Amino acid sequence: MAQRQDYIKKMELKKQARLKAGLLSDKYPSVSGIVLQMTYYHNSENPLLMERTVNVFPSSYAYFLMECMIKTCEEGGFDLSRIIAKTIKQKKKVVRGEMACKGKIDNTARDHASIIYKINVKYGRRVK
Ligand SMILES: [Zn+2]
Repeated sequence: MAQRQDYIKKMELKKQARLKAGLLSDKYPSVSGIVLQMTYYHNSENPLLMERTVNVFPSSYAYFLMECMIKTCEEGGFDLSRIIAKTIKQKKKVVRGEMACKGKIDNTARDHASIIYKINVKYGRRVK
């Protein structure tokens, strides 16, 4: 029961964070779309966890905190917000990099997951 409430609380916080982030069209009016391609790795013998592509549209929330796929991870995730802000500021189209999760497992910070990302930003004409 407690777990279920935790889950609801987490979802509620996430919803608030998304609303706070605002829409992509408001935050970055020059951007017509962003494609995030991520490969998730975790610390194990078979490190490749999954591949994921996220399409962000002007009508989407400008929220780029990608969740850590390790269920027991607390306060983790991969925050691409700053990289995306920088990319758009420099008017770059493609940026690649990697990031490690800073979350905790059993209250201990440990190396447990990372992603390799490729961010594609599409710019359009400002329609307003
Ligand atoms: Zn994590």
